[in-house]
This record gives sequence, structure tokens and C-alpha cells, in this order.
Amino acid sequence: MLVGFNYKKKFGQNFLSDKNLLVSIADDASVSSNSQVLEIGAGAGALTQILAERAQKVVAIEIDKELKPYLELLCSKYKNVKILYGDFLKMEPTEIQAEFDDSFSVVANLPYYITTPIIFRLLESFDKAQTLTLMVQKEVAERFTAYVGTSEYGAVSIILQSQADIKITRIVEKTMFYPRPNVDSAVIHIVKNNSKYNIEDRPFFTQVVKASFNYRRKTLINSLQLGLNISKNVAESAVNELGKPLDIRGERLTIEDYIILAHILKEKLQ
Ligand code: SAM
Repeated sequence: MLVGFNYKKKFGQNFLSDKNLLVSIADDASVSSNSQVLEIGAGAGALTQILAERAQKVVAIEIDKELKPYLELLCSKYKNVKILYGDFLKMEPTEIQAEFDDSFSVVANLPYYITTPIIFRLLESFDKAQTLTLMVQKEVAERFTAYVGTSEYGAVSIILQSQADIKITRIVEKTMFYPRPNVDSAVIHIVKNNSKYNIEDRPFFTQVVKASFNYRRKTLINSLQLGLNISKNVAESAVNELGKPLDIRGERLTIEDYIILAHILKEKLQ
């Protein structure tokens, strides 16, 4: 607990201090003396310090300027740390990437209110970010890593797993944070893998997947019809061509099924 610091809920400020846990996060990320690391949300610098002790270079982003005194102290002690103050979601990816010589790792205890936008920004606009080791809410981690047929399986599971290998490396109890959040957390390790599947039109694939899960209680055909604004005829013949029953729901389809479905729909709509 930082005496005199006004923790801000609106910035998702749940800080860590347990040294063993912080070291384990750096282990999960395989940070070593030649690693260059980007941290999003430095807070008071607890994780930043552990990373600085191991890595060649750490660039950390922090939105809350009230944390400056803590972070300046850290920078005076560790010369391989640089703090950029601002909103990660509004900063230019090219400017952040210019801080690194080559590929880098992302390691962060993420602000939970923007976990998903941060991850998608890292995957889409940071080609030099090779691995992401991130603390997220446990239920979010379970959705990201969910398999077909489970209740956690959804659009985000498919969109993430279609471009990266993702695993949960550890579960972290809420008691490890200050202030204590309402739910437990998990550390996930994401390795980008764009050659995992051959997806010819990724934006359209994403659109098809999102449409299929937009209306949870409806059949896949109804969801596609509403979500893509297409006729029932087109939706029905696509599902038929895919070789699936007409009453199937979106959560029964694998990533491979969605790739084929997007291909069939694209041909039909051209
Ligand atoms: N790394 C620290 C730790 O583990 O103790 C703090 C983690 S705390 C969960 C998330 C941090 O992200 C907070 O310090 C918060 O101010 C910062 N933050 C929130 N939104 C941000 C944004 N859009 N851009 C950059 N930092 C942000």
C-alpha cells in the first residue's frame, strides 16, 4: 500500500507488491539480459523494477501522472528504464516501437477495464511485439483460452486463437492486489502465430465470427442473417455447404469451421 496515494478505480489501479509473484511473472515471460520489454501501466513501478533488474531495456507506459514521483525514483536507480506518460490506446504504435531495436516482449499487469482493446491493439498494430505476458481477470483468461463446446467459448476465443498460441501460466488470487479487486486473476502468455491458419480475408473472418456470437440464443443461421445483414437463403445454403445441421448454434463451430464458413460466405456474397 502506498501511503498518501489516491488509488484510482477509473484507471484500474490494483497494484502488486509480492516479490515472488513479480519474479514469477518475469519468469513466465522468459525475460533475460538481452530482452527488451514494453510494460503497459507501470503503476508505482513494482513490476517495472523486477523487469529492470533482468532485462536489457524496459519502456513502461503510465497514464496517471500522479505516479511520477515513484517512477522518477525508479528511473534514477535503473538507467535501463524509460517511462512514457500517456494513454496507451491513444499513443502512436510507431513511436512506441521506435523505442526498441528489434522484437520485444510485452509484460503487464493490465488495467482490467481495457484488457481486450489493449490486446487487440498489440496484436494488430505492434508487429515487433513477439510475446505478451499479461495479468488479466481470471474469467477473461478463461474466455481467451476456451475450447469449442464450453460455455466460455466465444468470438474472442476464436479471434485470438486464430492468430496466436495462448496459455494460462498461473492463477493469482485477488488477495495479492492492493486495492483488492472483486475477482481472481490469471497470467496469460500469448505467442503470436500468424501462420497457424491460412485466413484469406481476416477482417471478413472477424465479422463472420462476431456476427455468429452476437445473438447467443439464436441459431447460427439467424445470427448470420441479422449480424451480416444477408438473406436467410444465403445463410442457410452456407451452413448446408459447411455440412452442418441447419439448427446448429455458433458455439458448436471450431476455428477451422469458421475459416471455411467465411470462405463460403465470401464467395456467395461476391
Ligand atoms: N504495474 C503495476 C503493478 O503491477 O503494480 C500497476 C498495474 S495496475 C493493474 C494498471 C496500471 O495501468 C495503473 O497504474 C493505471 O494507472 C495504468 N493505466 C490505466 N489505463 C491506462 C492507459 N490507458 N494507458 C496506460 N496506462 C494505463
